[in-house]
Amino acid sequence: MRIVVASGKGGTGKTTVATSLALVVGGAVLFLDCDVEAPNAALFLNPALEKHKDVGIQLPVVDETLCTHCGKCAEVCEFHAIAVIGKKTLIFPELCHGCGSCTLLCPEKAICERLEVMGVLEGGTTPTGLDFAQGVMNVGEPMAVPIIRELKKWQRLGLDTAVEHRLPFDKLRASLDQQLEIRDAPPGASCPVVETMRGVDFVLLVTEPTPFGLHDLKQVVGITRELGLPAGVVINRDGIGDHAVETYCVEAKIPILMRIPFERAIAEGVAQGKTLVDIHPEYGNRFRQMFMQITSLL
Ligand code: SF4
Ligand code: SF4
Repeated sequence: MRIVVASGKGGTGKTTVATSLALVVGGAVLFLDCDVEAPNAALFLNPALEKHKDVGIQLPVVDETLCTHCGKCAEVCEFHAIAVIGKKTLIFPELCHGCGSCTLLCPEKAICERLEVMGVLEGGTTPTGLDFAQGVMNVGEPMAVPIIRELKKWQRLGLDTAVEHRLPFDKLRASLDQQLEIRDAPPGASCPVVETMRGVDFVLLVTEPTPFGLHDLKQVVGITRELGLPAGVVINRDGIGDHAVETYCVEAKIPILMRIPFERAIAEGVAQGKTLVDIHPEYGNRFRQMFMQITSLL
């Protein structure tokens, strides 16, 4: 079972919700921090990041001695990353998505590929026994999607070392007979978010009751609908702003699964690297109840 925690707007408390959910559900849990431009879940979960792997895309390289400048590679490239000008075949790495079409279709086999490193994947186990992996994009790279795609593939690490934390409510977890995967999505509503959501079973949307929160929530709900994914909402900083988010959720038939009040103690604790269940242990039961609600919705 895979759950992604997303929010259209940055800074709504997405990582706060994702990390506490991962800590309380028990059993085998894999946490993926897919916010590769600014991953920060490790600050709360404190994994020992022992595994590292360079990651990027396969960039085409043209052998000019074999190239006949037929132009077929430029024709097939949807991203306009190749141009054939006279007797020159030019590659524009910033536009290339590493799809491999040009290499496959070159009639002269004049194209080979090299790995263009865009970032690194890091993985390990947290002190509480969670499997953890994150992607970290190099500064200045324009595309997060290839790193997220590789992170999703590079996920079966260290499961054999996972510590089993059996909690009373784990009858339910045990009945799921599989590892729970929790993905912390990037903020926004663009391609990296779509890539993070692909392949999950449920989308947990964290928002705040403000006009900005509502606007960005609507955008990300649009993505879940396009992908045909069930979703639920967590309202963070409940008590500020207005009731427009609640009204929208009722109209759009999206269940509100939890409310987290606007509270100084929570803000101070998060700023010190504490999870919500560290700050308020009683939230453990609320997160477990929310998880049961999610399974019943599925
Ligand atoms: S398809 Fe191959 S031979 Fe034709 S222009 Fe491209 S690299 Fe050259
Ligand atoms: S690998 Fe794909 S995106 Fe890159 S140049 Fe070739 S066809 Fe274009």
